[in-house]
Amino acid sequence: MAYDNENIFAKILRGEIPCDKVYESQHALAFNDIAPQAPVHVLVIPKGPYVSSDDFSANASEAEIAGFVRAVGDVARELGLADPGYRILANHGPDSGQEVSHFHIHIFGGQNLGRMIKPPEQ
Ligand code: 5GP
Repeated sequence: MAYDNENIFAKILRGEIPCDKVYESQHALAFNDIAPQAPVHVLVIPKGPYVSSDDFSANASEAEIAGFVRAVGDVARELGLADPGYRILANHGPDSGQEVSHFHIHIFGGQNLGRMIKPPEQ
């Protein structure tokens, strides 16, 4: 899948639409999700044009990968989530329900998050 420069997170990175920013580094930007699914729901995105975790893990440079992984940990720590705990999640492709085709990691926290995944309907 080719990267679409008009996806919503590309527009956020270019400053064309606003976001509620919580963190920025050389390789990553983090902002609050517009439709939070937990008391804390932050999205961390790399600054480079990667469609998903699959694209990022295959094609990003070592510096981008290291910078991004560091950013995810930094954001969670700065939000005070390291001690009570949190969940990180990334969707890739149709079966995951990925909506925005710019790689992002969700950070959820602020409450007991319960089961990791909802089993499929029988
Ligand atoms: P996905 O399903 O692709 O893993 O997650 C996409 C996430 O992006 C969703 O949780 C959705 O609420 C969030 N989102 C979609 N559009 C916007 C937006 O314009 N701003 C922000 N902050 N979040 C968005």
